[in-house]
Amino acid sequence: METSEFNGLTIHGARELLDRGEVSSVELTQAALDRVGQVDGRVKAFVTVTGEFALAQAKRADERIAEGNAGPLTGVPMQLKDNMSTKGIATTCSSRMLENYVPPYDATITRKVFDEGAVLVGKGNLDEFAMGSSTENSAFFQTHNPWDLERVPGGSSGGPASAVAAGECVYALGSDTGGSIRQPASLCGIVGMKPTYGLVSRYGLVAFASSLDQIGPLTKDVEDCAIVLNAIAGHDPNDSTSINIDTPDYTKALVPDLNGLRIGVPKEYFVDGMEPGVEQATRKAIDVLQGLGADIVETSLPHTPYSLAVYYILAPSEASANLARYDGVKYGYSAQDADSMWDALEKTRQHGFGPEVKRRMMLGTYALSAGYYDAYYKKAQQVRTLIRQEFETVFQELDAVVMATSPSVAFKLGEKMDDPVQMYLNDILTMPANIAGIPGISVQGGMSDGLPVGFQIMTKPLNEETLLRIAYAYEQATDWHAMRPEL
Ligand code: GLN
Repeated sequence: METSEFNGLTIHGARELLDRGEVSSVELTQAALDRVGQVDGRVKAFVTVTGEFALAQAKRADERIAEGNAGPLTGVPMQLKDNMSTKGIATTCSSRMLENYVPPYDATITRKVFDEGAVLVGKGNLDEFAMGSSTENSAFFQTHNPWDLERVPGGSSGGPASAVAAGECVYALGSDTGGSIRQPASLCGIVGMKPTYGLVSRYGLVAFASSLDQIGPLTKDVEDCAIVLNAIAGHDPNDSTSINIDTPDYTKALVPDLNGLRIGVPKEYFVDGMEPGVEQATRKAIDVLQGLGADIVETSLPHTPYSLAVYYILAPSEASANLARYDGVKYGYSAQDADSMWDALEKTRQHGFGPEVKRRMMLGTYALSAGYYDAYYKKAQQVRTLIRQEFETVFQELDAVVMATSPSVAFKLGEKMDDPVQMYLNDILTMPANIAGIPGISVQGGMSDGLPVGFQIMTKPLNEETLLRIAYAYEQATDWHAMRPEL
């Protein structure tokens, strides 16, 4: 297969070719690896390329297909963000701390997609420990946006989003703690979904902020998103926050009309500083929903402006606890030039962690310390409850709320690195979904100055079917998803 043909391929498109015998998984995988060879020197989406492993998986997938035993993902090349455990394959979190760490076990989602016959092309770059919005915090290298190589791909799942957008793999899995699937999906012009908290197992995902982290799909269209969600959703006894329900077939939700749905537009989400091109695209997308039969109503989520403050107390607090395990003893980087146990611990953490990770640990330790706990951590938890209740109230009347995904299109590399607060503001429209535990999806919602704009939908918990239905109907009525960057 020519790489030009592979570049725009979806999972459902690949499935048809594979099942009709027009292409083998080995050929598809070779095309993916060729494409990586052609463009990844410029995009830099991969921390590790697993060529041999992928070709071996592809061979087994071809056998399965020949036996008539293929699932939707069998034989289709994909990427995992490098904070998801892969047995025998380095899982670095783009950190010096885990640069040489090879997990002895697979994450539940790794197992699930492998059991379905997925082909792993490699592991995707991220902001160190998933802390960031541009992938510039990777300890290894920066990832570039395939639409404009001088711009960021967003973050922290910048590797997965740019790999999918650049056609280096058919789909990817990312993690989203405050926006890390949806914001890069928006900046790279693809689809990204954060499922309901607890719908997808976190077992084997390196923890950042455990009460906010969720794994989800990054795909070229909404149908692919539903296909991947089918594969990864579901109860896992290894994750105590995993929800024990029978999950539906999400592809059944894909119908191209919105008759009977009431969709809210929360006024607080047209934030100060939003780029005019983003606001215009969002308003146009809302008109499209109306044209599809949805009833559009203005609504209000008044505690939204507090989301950023709440997030930047809770996420660093949880991170400071989660990162305490990197002591240079059990696994990961270990400083050797030390003359005592304490000296070793200090040097390990000093050299193993980058500046943003250290900033988060200091913020979190401060918020949790005696005397400040009530003022910061406890208060943030109380506001978290208010934000969640506010969503519950609007979802009594409304099927979904819609807004932009990010206040801006992809910005220039380096532009926000000296100003952490500017960087943090990138996720102002995505964080509320993590705080409330509700699902959110970003779909391609237009272009501004030649760069993609994401359109976001949120629903009540476990209502991924409505989320996908709206996203699908919107996608069917527009052409944005068919646009691909030229590389
Ligand atoms: N950009 C946000 C942060 O830096 C969100 C990251 C994420 O979702 N992992 O924390």
